[in-house]
Amino acid sequence: MTGIEQHAVVVGGGLAGVTTALELADAGMRVTLMEGRPRLGGLAFSFKRGDLDVDNGQHVYLRCCTAYRWFLDRVDGAALAPLQDRLDVPVLDVAHPGGPRLGRLRRSGLPVPLHLAGSLARYPHLSIAERLSVGRAALALRRLDPTDPALDGLDFATWLGRYGQSARTIEALWDLVGIATLNATAEQSSLGLAAMVFKTGLLSENGAADIGWARVPLGELHDTLTRKALDAAGVRTELRTRVTGISRMPEGAWRIDTEEECLEAGSVVLAVPQREAHALLPAGALPDPDKLLDIGTAPILNVHVVYDRKVLKQPFFAALGSPVQWVFDRTESSGLPDGGQYLALSQSVAQDDIDEPVSVLRAKYLPELERLLPAARGAKVRDFFVTRERTATFAPTPGVGRLRPGARTDTPGLYLAGAWTATGWPATMESAVRSGLSAAHAALAALGRHREHPLQEAA
Ligand SMILES: Cc1cc2nc3c(=O)[nH]c(=O)nc-3n(C[C@H](O)[C@H](O)[C@H](O)COP(=O)(O)OP(=O)(O)OC[C@H]3O[C@@H](n4cnc5c(N)ncnc54)[C@H](O)[C@@H]3O)c2cc1C
Repeated sequence: MTGIEQHAVVVGGGLAGVTTALELADAGMRVTLMEGRPRLGGLAFSFKRGDLDVDNGQHVYLRCCTAYRWFLDRVDGAALAPLQDRLDVPVLDVAHPGGPRLGRLRRSGLPVPLHLAGSLARYPHLSIAERLSVGRAALALRRLDPTDPALDGLDFATWLGRYGQSARTIEALWDLVGIATLNATAEQSSLGLAAMVFKTGLLSENGAADIGWARVPLGELHDTLTRKALDAAGVRTELRTRVTGISRMPEGAWRIDTEEECLEAGSVVLAVPQREAHALLPAGALPDPDKLLDIGTAPILNVHVVYDRKVLKQPFFAALGSPVQWVFDRTESSGLPDGGQYLALSQSVAQDDIDEPVSVLRAKYLPELERLLPAARGAKVRDFFVTRERTATFAPTPGVGRLRPGARTDTPGLYLAGAWTATGWPATMESAVRSGLSAAHAALAALGRHREHPLQEAA
């Protein structure tokens, strides 16, 4: 192979791009990674606010996220983002007529699907008939094939209705999980993607839905440790380097232009969001590139509240009967000193809130927290701020599956990666890492280099 053939340029330093770069470098390629921002990590990052380390948005993953777990191991970060021993989600209903009521979604050590049966049987937020109907729908869900293209065009809510799920069951169970994982309600979700999430998370293996999250700022995993791994693997990482164009040279190599320099490489991986990919794609790379522009996006809002005292004992909980969705204790990971408590509210499907002024969000969410957490009523709010991600995820609307391209393009040497590409997963860290591995392995295969795929099931 020539020098240029062995050189790959990866555009975009989110989880998809850094994964691609690591995997290509581990296979012996010379790799340059170009990221427009001054840091790695893309949509999953942290920043400083005074002494506080703040994540742009609370991120969690599940035990079934084998690619993201591989990534954590690869950057030596697994111990910093541990998983629960067993799935355990406190769910607090503040609209219950007899006063706030706490339920839990827990698993036992029993095999699938019995591992959730006990918890479901005791779940107080549904009637007995509703709990039984959930069992029947779960069994029907098990029979669905999420990769069946026919499922992509249908919406999840219609399917749930067909299986007798009441509005309350959707609110207190299916949407409780679905909104957080898909960033869409059941009505807004493709049945294929919803089936994928629920089948993999709840019905594949006993511990599949055990939840993990970073006990350090996200930047420590996705920027600091990742940079260390990239450096050790020999990747040349260029931050603050925006790629402005890519073009194919007559002899088949690629020319990559940035504002400062121009590089040549045998392979290019575009690991940027779909709109940016569309803008950079050369003619003929995809049969219908405008499909990328039809992939919608959905916002996530995080509301950050620092109290002068501890108001929440659990590490996190989910709320029902309140605009509050999921609340996480961020005190330790943010480095907050002196006895206060820092809570982050993770608000998915945030279309109604995303452009509201901070004062409006404050007036909406502080009283709700007082309703949910009695100890917050006497506490002083030391700080209140929000982080807004308007294009947090792609919208998993029915039909999105046929818009998502795979890693290979029609132009040799050009590949796509990103959580939005055709991984079968919704827009998650898992999807991003999977897409990066797919792009790297497609590029290696085209060069006749074969390397064992780190995820055996995807090999
Ligand atoms: C608030 C929030 C909460 C979330 N919660 C979760 C969660 O709990 N669990 C979960 O699994 N996922 C969650 N996600 C989704 C997850 O963060 C993303 O799916 C994932 O990080 C996407 O990674 P990516 O590499 O595909 O894309 P991105 O992170 O978008 O990376 C693309 C990169 O390309 C760079 N770039 C763009 N154009 C150029 C250019 N021309 N030249 C150079 N660089 C360029 C960008 O700066 C960016 O760094 C959440 C996302 C948000 C925003």
